[in-house]
Amino acid sequence: MGNPKAFTYIPRKEAGYRPVSERIYDFGEVEQTLNREDRKLQASRCMDCGIPFCHWACPLGNKMPEWQDLIYKGKWKEGVEVLHETNNFPDFTGRICPAPCEKSCVLALHEAPVTIRENEAAVTEVAFLEGMIVPRPPKTRTGKKVAVIGSGPAGLAAAQQLNRKGHLVTVYEKDKYVGGLMRYGIPNFKLNKNVIDRRIAQLEAEGIIFKTNVEVGVTLPGKKIMDNFDAVCIAIGSGHPRDINPKGRELKGIHFAMEYLSQANQLIMGEKVDERKLINAKDKHVVVIGGGDTGSDCVGTAVRQGAATITQIEILPQPPVGKNPATPWPFYPNILKTSSSHLEGCTRKWSLNTNQFTGKNGKVTELIVEEVEWKNENGKFNMVPTGKTETLKADLVFLALGFVHPVHDGLLTELGVSFDNRGNVATDKQSRSSVAKVFATGDAQIGASLVVRAIALGRKVAEDIHAELTTLH
Ligand SMILES: Cc1cc2nc3c(=O)[nH]c(=O)nc-3n(C[C@H](O)[C@H](O)[C@H](O)COP(=O)(O)OP(=O)(O)OC[C@H]3O[C@@H](n4cnc5c(N)ncnc54)[C@H](O)[C@@H]3O)c2cc1C
Repeated sequence: MGNPKAFTYIPRKEAGYRPVSERIYDFGEVEQTLNREDRKLQASRCMDCGIPFCHWACPLGNKMPEWQDLIYKGKWKEGVEVLHETNNFPDFTGRICPAPCEKSCVLALHEAPVTIRENEAAVTEVAFLEGMIVPRPPKTRTGKKVAVIGSGPAGLAAAQQLNRKGHLVTVYEKDKYVGGLMRYGIPNFKLNKNVIDRRIAQLEAEGIIFKTNVEVGVTLPGKKIMDNFDAVCIAIGSGHPRDINPKGRELKGIHFAMEYLSQANQLIMGEKVDERKLINAKDKHVVVIGGGDTGSDCVGTAVRQGAATITQIEILPQPPVGKNPATPWPFYPNILKTSSSHLEGCTRKWSLNTNQFTGKNGKVTELIVEEVEWKNENGKFNMVPTGKTETLKADLVFLALGFVHPVHDGLLTELGVSFDNRGNVATDKQSRSSVAKVFATGDAQIGASLVVRAIALGRKVAEDIHAELTTLH
């Protein structure tokens, strides 16, 4: 460790966001970067505490103290190499990870953890800029072929790991471009798509084959894949959105968040979108139902489209600000999160249940919401209506209520895999589904989660498939 006392006199410094007045007119990334000297100082704040809780909290087991030290010493190449030992895509997680590592950093006890996530993005940017990230194709091939179905972070991590073991990997993707929810869900202002493109270029140069616009189980029978590959990895995500069914749900103008976000991303990428299906928030009163990250992404997108008003409502109570005794350090805290999008102009409300949508000429115009209370009855939280209602103006409503499980129709039904009690693909400890040579990973395996977990599971399934392919039966 370079500077054991740096944290005592160097304060945490975040790069911060571009000014609201500037950023709401474009979809460029909102987060800025520090210069290299400041970045080194920030990395020096890591005190290499005996037990690195940051490492414990990271689903990938990233070795934070090691690469903070390397950044501090200006050894960017070695730093990114250590990062890549555990994380295929630190350029993605450095931008969009909620950073459980920082929540568990010992310095978080004093509310000024090391800027681990930003440091991760920074070291990877230096590495890309200076040509340190190069394709690493396998030296020999095993002769085994693996199909990865789905090109989100789980599928991409699995593909890269398997390819590096020498198996020939083909990734099938139903959409036009690869990347999964990072491409079509997460807006550009959080993750610019060229960050995905340059990684795909690396993966292609390593020998991975990508086949896009192919929906396995629909446009290409799953049987063909089963016949032609030695192992099949299901990485199709958790695409079935959670719905609600109050009176008026059928009115026009009520959309799932992903209809809106994927369309907005498609338009930015220059993809053709059916004009009749265009969803544009310009001059509209927008209500987002669901207080999570997906909802916040709808807020940021509606801001950029010039919405008249934006209200985000959540059925749960407002979490505490700052600290929550129910989720103490080093656990991930359940506290109020304010995203860059929230700072751009939106009203947030909590403890509201949607009782009814009302409308005119078949189009939504209002929501009738009711305040609810949450009562803890023997450890179980029950929702109790209070009778206090409120009417919210709404020309557009986005349902950002999460996802239930992967889409069952098509591929999963054709393959005949079993599901767990939440409807995800059931797997054993070796990521094997109930069907021989079919494995599952990512959100399709554990339910909607995070990019960092998807990458971790992608690496795990690759280990499991490799073990299966190299074991003599
Ligand atoms: C709006 C939104 C914002 C988010 N923001 C964040 C964030 O800021 N940070 C974070 O960590 N996580 C975030 N997440 C969660 C994160 O994106 C997911 O957990 C992660 O992408 C899951 O990875 P995956 O590879 O398992 O699945 P996905 O990313 O969902 O990828 C699955 C892929 O499979 C393809 N596919 C499906 N069926 C087939 C088929 N039959 N044939 C071929 N291809 C198929 C899909 O088109 C898709 O490309 C967000 C999610 C959403 C919806």
